[in-house]
Amino acid sequence: MILGVIADDFTGATDVASMLVRAGLRTVQTIGVPQGEIPPEVAGADAVVVALKSRTTPAADAVADSLAALHWLQAAGARQFYFKVCSTFDSTPAGNIGPVAEALMAALGTPQTLVCPAFPENGRTVFRGHLFVGDELLSDSGMRHHPLTPMSDSNLVRWMQQQCQHRVGLLRHDVVARGAAAITERLASLQADGVAHVVGDAVDNDALRHLAAGASHLPLWVAGSGLALGLPQVLADRGWVTLTAHAADLDALTGPAAVLAGSCSTATQGQVARWIAAGRPALRIDPLALARGEPVGADALAWAQAQTSAPLLYATADAATLASTQAALGVAEAGALVEHALAHIARGLVDAGTQRLVVAGGETSGAVVQALDVHTLRIGAAICPGVPWTQAVRAADQGPLKLALKSGNFGGPEFFTEALAAA
Ligand code: ADP
Repeated sequence: MILGVIADDFTGATDVASMLVRAGLRTVQTIGVPQGEIPPEVAGADAVVVALKSRTTPAADAVADSLAALHWLQAAGARQFYFKVCSTFDSTPAGNIGPVAEALMAALGTPQTLVCPAFPENGRTVFRGHLFVGDELLSDSGMRHHPLTPMSDSNLVRWMQQQCQHRVGLLRHDVVARGAAAITERLASLQADGVAHVVGDAVDNDALRHLAAGASHLPLWVAGSGLALGLPQVLADRGWVTLTAHAADLDALTGPAAVLAGSCSTATQGQVARWIAAGRPALRIDPLALARGEPVGADALAWAQAQTSAPLLYATADAATLASTQAALGVAEAGALVEHALAHIARGLVDAGTQRLVVAGGETSGAVVQALDVHTLRIGAAICPGVPWTQAVRAADQGPLKLALKSGNFGGPEFFTEALAAA
């Protein structure tokens, strides 16, 4: 194992893992910092992505969790490190990107790191230190209204400086365009000026590749998943890994499949509607029936067993229905009831032989993975950008299991059928 990635949330971890696989690194993702012995699938991978839940926790907790991940990755053999943050740089003036970056740098004994959330394929670009979402400045985009991390300033140098003890500086697009040698030289002169965190401009994939090559001497990068595009080649050029066209290969499974949807996002609503419109088997999980104590889970499992093709079980609701359910039950209570029910159903389906499970919703995916007692995933080919098929690393007597875990808003209208066709 060569590359250790510390990701500040679960779906972000899967996203960066998918990028690494695409470029030829055999990659596994762990859910939290692994405990106990290192499974052979982890030891034998080129890259390990540790998925934390540290994006919006108090900064001190994020630092402690990230350092624990770093120490585990170092003990497992990692020599290059990547702190994966959101491509919209989700954070507050108090953290957590700056404090975590500085703690990791201190632990690694490095005076400088490259900071670049750009992901041009998804419309995230950095120009003169300002982050754009599509054609809008970050601070003009919907992100300024984010409930936990409202991004009111698109200037990443200024934003990150509020979070940092050490200086933050800019590596401008004109230097980036001149390529790796110019980048390395500018990084050195910035370091001589005491700049510890260097925000890199990148408006396209060429810029990301230049940055990766020019910053290859730095042991830690702080980045969205875009910069991962250039990293595997850097590691291969160094002779640390051999890139393989088979990085995404997972076992071929043909056993029963099912879809669980716990997201109420616009994209998931469309995917559920398309599935139903096509006449495929679908059953709605009603939170109010759950709250009344009805045997919703048991009934759903019995119904699912009776289907002759892959069933969809969904709690997905439109905004008005969601609001009235939340008014009746409370937002947190309704969410917890639904997550618990879908996780219980997932467990029942897998115990009854389901081998391929598609799950829609970030929190829902977390609950399902926990209920299935899955701690490690091998990463396969992408179904759509940011969402790969994965295979759970499980004991031999547990039977094989593939999971496609999708954050709510990902995927086109036919995502569920596309996922099942690709499994
Ligand atoms: P997303 O990735 O779209 O944010 P999540 O799974 O992270 O999806 O979050 C959706 C939340 O909404 C979960 O807590 C889920 O349990 C809850 N939920 C889903 N359907 C309903 C519903 N019909 N009524 C109330 N809460 C719901």
